[in-house]
Amino acid sequence: MSTQRQLFFQHLAQTSFSPIGLEIVKAKGNYQYDINGKKYFDLISGFNVANIGHSHPAVIEAVKKQAEDYMHLIVYGEFIQSPQTLYAQLLTKHLPASLDCVYFTNSGAEATEGALKLAKRATTRTNIIAFNKSYHGSTQGALSLMGDEFYRNSFRPLLPCIYHFNYNSDDVLDAINEDTACVILETVQAESGIIVPEKKWIKVLRDKCTEQGTLLIFDEIQAGFGRTGTLWAFEQFDVTPDILLLGKALGGGMPLGAFMANKNLMQSLSFNPVLGHITTFGGHPVSCAAGKAAFEILLSENYIKDIAEKEKLFVEKLRHSSIKKINHFGLWFSLQFKSAEATQKIIHQCIKNGLITDWFLFAPDCLRIAPPLTITEGEINTVCAIILKSIEEIN
Ligand code: PLP
Repeated sequence: MSTQRQLFFQHLAQTSFSPIGLEIVKAKGNYQYDINGKKYFDLISGFNVANIGHSHPAVIEAVKKQAEDYMHLIVYGEFIQSPQTLYAQLLTKHLPASLDCVYFTNSGAEATEGALKLAKRATTRTNIIAFNKSYHGSTQGALSLMGDEFYRNSFRPLLPCIYHFNYNSDDVLDAINEDTACVILETVQAESGIIVPEKKWIKVLRDKCTEQGTLLIFDEIQAGFGRTGTLWAFEQFDVTPDILLLGKALGGGMPLGAFMANKNLMQSLSFNPVLGHITTFGGHPVSCAAGKAAFEILLSENYIKDIAEKEKLFVEKLRHSSIKKINHFGLWFSLQFKSAEATQKIIHQCIKNGLITDWFLFAPDCLRIAPPLTITEGEINTVCAIILKSIEEIN
């Protein structure tokens, strides 16, 4: 056992008995490199974070510059820090006018927590509607929203007044009433294996929320930043949320989350009580500088325009009798195999063959593909060939 491996198991909290356990010493562009010099294609972008690849030179430059100017100064919301104001200006410029105000957080889960508090505070209502097989983070509030009893049961009591419904089902519509503070959903459900909302359903959901004065929250923490073929997934469904959750790729590889809303709505976190949400490190200047640099690269290199072509190529190449079903939406795929066991074997074989991939929390029989948006046509051919070879090798 290498020393690092020993230390990892001895001193770091484990989240399972079977971590992937690669010892990576460098990550650059679409690849990660382990201690033995083996090169891996990052087929999941570090879980939808490295949308423009790892350690882009522009991001490194922004981090260095900001670290030299200043790092942490004070808790969020007190000083004027240009990395925050400039990134907020850039984000709002690329969103509907109603989403003109950003609250930067440390993580996706904290964005979820902040949004739930905002919805309760602004509406003075108690009830929250969420969906089965949804994932919004692992803190107590976010976990209470999680639509899966296996993962939440041991942590009860959770938040009260949360009601779960099936995604894409009309049952939810009758449940939205004058007691409902908010309805929260992933614009595209990720951990259930890339489930896309029906356009008609999500529009009716929007209308029902508007009619009842209920806030509609879209979680694009995993879907955001071009992955689905548009900058924001909700653009494809002609609906705008009242609150938008961002994270993962938002920080360009640094930790950053955000909840966004209309300025008037967001204002309610500043009185009754004052300091409605407090965070020490939320909107860290180095994270904001990194995120803004990554966002600018995403736009200037126009990676989003090629997503549909690349998606098509993946689907064409991934033909094999063992693949039962492919769900896909942009550069985001779920490959279903006959069982969770079979999928695990294929994942391990892919990793052996130099491809980092994983499964989905609520769809363990599905293999995850969410490559950096910078993936080339040649790389798509190569990674698909490795997946097919890995399937063959375990058969
Ligand atoms: N929401 C979605 C859809 C996610 O996929 C995740 C993380 O995987 C979160 C929220 C929570 O983000 P974080 O892990 O940064 O707390």
